[in-house]
Amino acid sequence: MKKLLLGTLLALACPLLATSAWAANPTTKPNETTKKVEQTLSIIKPDAVAGNHIGEIIARFEKNGLQVAGAKLIKLTPDQAAKFYAEHKQRPFYSDLVKFMTSGPVVLIVLKGENAVAKNRELMGATDPKKAAPGTIRADFAKSVTANSVHGSDSQESAKTEIDFFFKPEEIVR
Ligand code: UDP
Ligand code: MG
Repeated sequence: MKKLLLGTLLALACPLLATSAWAANPTTKPNETTKKVEQTLSIIKPDAVAGNHIGEIIARFEKNGLQVAGAKLIKLTPDQAAKFYAEHKQRPFYSDLVKFMTSGPVVLIVLKGENAVAKNRELMGATDPKKAAPGTIRADFAKSVTANSVHGSDSQESAKTEIDFFFKPEEIVR
C-alpha cells in the first residue's frame, strides 16, 4: 500500500516538476526548439541623437522583443571611431565616417533578445536609407548613407568584439 502511494505521488509530481522547471526558465518550453538569446551592439549615431530620435529608436527595439541590457551616451574620440571602424580603413568613405561619428554624441546600447543580431539588422534597414525598406529606422530617420542613424553588429562574433570594445562586463546589467 505504501509503495502504491509513493508510486502515485511520483507519477503526479514528475509532470509538475517539469512544468515548474519551465516556469523558472521560460526560454526552454517543453517540446519546443530552444530559441537563442543573443546580445548585439546598437549605436544611435550623431544625426539621430541631434534629431532627438533616441526615444523613438529605443521604442522600436523594445516593441520588437529586444531589451536594453546596457547603455551610455558618449562622444567618441577620433581614435575610438577609427579603431571601431578599422575594417573599413581602405574604403573611400572611411575618413568622412570617422569625422561624422565624432561630430556629436552617440548612444551605445547592448541589446538582448532572441536572435538579437538579425532582429536589430532587420529593424535598422539597408545601409543606404534610399534603399532601406519602408518602416525601418534608416528609412524613417537617416539623412544619407554616412549619416544613417544607427549601427548594428552584423554577426554574433562582431557583436562580442564590439560590445567588449565599449562595455565592461559590469556595465551590462541584465
Ligand atoms: N558608409 C558610408 N558610405 C558607404 C558605405 C558605408 O559612409 O558607401 C558608412 C555608413 O555610416 C555605414 C558604415 O559606413 O553604416 C559602415 O558600413 P557597413 O558597410 O558596415 O554598413 P552597415 O553595417 O552599417 O549597414
Ligand atoms: Mg557593418
